Amino acid sequence: MEKDYFNVADIFGENVFNDAAMQERLPKKAYQKMKETLRQGKELDVETADIIAHEMKEWAIEKGATHYTHWFQPLTGMTAEKHDSFITAPRKDGKVLMSFSGKELIKGEPDASSFPSGGLRATFEARGYTNWDCTSPAFVRQDAAGATLCIPTAFCSYTGEALDQKTPLLRSMEAINRQSLRLIRLFGNTTSKRVVPSVGVEQEYFIIDRKDFLARKDLVYTGRTLIGAMPPKGQEMDDHYFGAIRERIASFMRDVNIELWKLGVSAKTQHNEVAPAQHELAPIYAEANVAVDHNQLIMETLKKVAYRHDLQCLLHEKPFAGVNGSGKHNNWSLVTDDGINILDPGKTPHENIQFLLVLCCILRAVDEHADLLRESASDVGNDHRLGGDEAPPSIISVYLGEQLQDVFDQLIRTGTADHSITREILETGVKVLPDFLKDATDRNRTSPFAFTGNKFEFRMVGSEDSVGEPNTVLNTIVAEAFSDACDVLEKADNFDLAVHDLIKKLAKEHERIIFNGNGYSEEWVEEAEKRGLPNITNMLDAIPALTTEKSIAVFSKFGVFTEAELSSRAEIEYEVYAKKRNIEAKTMIDIIRKQIIPATIRYTTVLATSVNQVSQAVPTADVSTQTEMLSEVSSYLKETKECLTALEEAEAKGIRMKDDFMKKALYYRDVVLPAMDALRKPVDKLEMLVDKSMWPMPSYGDMIFEV
Ligand code: ADP
Ligand code: MG
Repeated sequence: MEKDYFNVADIFGENVFNDAAMQERLPKKAYQKMKETLRQGKELDVETADIIAHEMKEWAIEKGATHYTHWFQPLTGMTAEKHDSFITAPRKDGKVLMSFSGKELIKGEPDASSFPSGGLRATFEARGYTNWDCTSPAFVRQDAAGATLCIPTAFCSYTGEALDQKTPLLRSMEAINRQSLRLIRLFGNTTSKRVVPSVGVEQEYFIIDRKDFLARKDLVYTGRTLIGAMPPKGQEMDDHYFGAIRERIASFMRDVNIELWKLGVSAKTQHNEVAPAQHELAPIYAEANVAVDHNQLIMETLKKVAYRHDLQCLLHEKPFAGVNGSGKHNNWSLVTDDGINILDPGKTPHENIQFLLVLCCILRAVDEHADLLRESASDVGNDHRLGGDEAPPSIISVYLGEQLQDVFDQLIRTGTADHSITREILETGVKVLPDFLKDATDRNRTSPFAFTGNKFEFRMVGSEDSVGEPNTVLNTIVAEAFSDACDVLEKADNFDLAVHDLIKKLAKEHERIIFNGNGYSEEWVEEAEKRGLPNITNMLDAIPALTTEKSIAVFSKFGVFTEAELSSRAEIEYEVYAKKRNIEAKTMIDIIRKQIIPATIRYTTVLATSVNQVSQAVPTADVSTQTEMLSEVSSYLKETKECLTALEEAEAKGIRMKDDFMKKALYYRDVVLPAMDALRKPVDKLEMLVDKSMWPMPSYGDMIFEV
């Protein structure tokens, strides 16, 4: 990797077929057509597509590319790709040409049967197509496999059903665009042509040493530790957060940044997180679609670069029990093509009627579809995190901050707001430190959905999950609220009066979703129940939200999901849950049977031998310590074996349950998972008793304090 100093501006986006590259390479007419497609969503003709494909290929070959791939995001949570080389059949003289047609750029056909479809595609009709998404620029990825031209694509079935994250996201972006335009037109904006959701995703992750990772089969197979006693020191000293970044990690981060910058990902902030060995990376926000792709690139790059540094990046939401887990903060706002953020309250929010309406519509959307938002942030790993004293609670609520809360209270009390709390100067009391204006919103770290200045921050998403679904849901439910508001206001005789009444009505009806207190507290759970807010504690209880009448209505109204697509998604989620838990159970059985029990038996033999040999050598010697240890270890060993047998029986039954994934998933949650927890207890006790040199794998302390 480059170790010399360099100018970021020189390398930024160098591997992206971005606007600059297109402008430089495409004939003027083709470039203009491409721009029209991007700006107005016009279809590209075959001729232009051919020209673009050719130039893209030439550009990629200069960067060393030998292959191209349609890069897509099936419902596995990861990205997928099928590589084709550019070469054509050899000519008579034995040489080959490099070619890439418009057709190859626009359409691909991976074997769709190997991706989850939740019954949308019968196996005899396994056709699925990838379609070029020209709104997210193509890029060349350079790695051990050489250089590959990656073309972001959507993935659909033969009959046009979405089989991926991107298709519904793009549909939802169209919906929010249309409804936002209606809304701002009502307030006199005649110039903006498009409204696009802007998204900035903060990504948390753990870094450990690769040799430790390889010595932990649980991490290798499941991404999380299934056993492990707590180290003597945890995160109680809070000395990791924003701590100085160590050399080895700093060198890793530097290479991550370089890779990302080349790919046009604007990696901006990096710091340590709360837990030891935990870190965060955030890019500057981008259009939702690009931001979702970039988040996938960030996850891939973190893993790849870690590997090169003999490190391992853990993206699982809860790699270590008892230690802070990882999530993603999804920052979301709505910005016009001419740069107006309609979530910006301005200096005096009480006078900004359009903003107040937007705000109240968002409150309504979040209140009415809290279950959908909650569902969009569910994945198997997040079940170990949400609701713990570290991540947002599993109850959705909105935090407004002091200034907006005050305006909101005025609205509720009197129906109008006539003043806004102004920003205060933060006086440090030290002359050499400049005083500055405080932010008008404070932070509330416990809130799952917080207003932070000019955007909402949805903090529930899991670190390993795609942000595609949360943004699809957000765009759609807010589009619905905007649409209903416009239906009322477009018909009103007296607009000012009508908008005033509507704001008041929405504020009153959805006040219950606002909560500014401590989201970790037990009182909040009780209070939320009184308010009738759903408290969905786990993924399986969240899945039914996808197929309620309310959900089908909103998604089909805006053409984001059909009922069939929603049912298929629900089915896939049950399937994924059952499969992941099955792998966890099998891994645990394997580790306990082949590593933990044998190691413990070896240790009991050492203790027993010691008792015998010491007594023989010195008959009066006190061997009570060895004897006590032996009996203590033996009793946990017995408990371990009993719990192992119970887990094996539970797991065997789970495997025999064949077809109904929902039933199977529930079985794994209610029977197998508790059996795993029960087995973990005696094993973690043993780890504290058995000679460290005999324990067959690195401890929590080894992994998170010694990287
Ligand atoms: P933190 O929450 O840690 O204080 P920042 O306020 O710096 O972080 O921003 C977090 C993320 O939010 C970044 O990715 C940033 O680019 C993004 N962001 C900032 N403004 C907006 C906006 N208007 N819309 C969407 N994302 C935004
Ligand atoms: Mg944040």
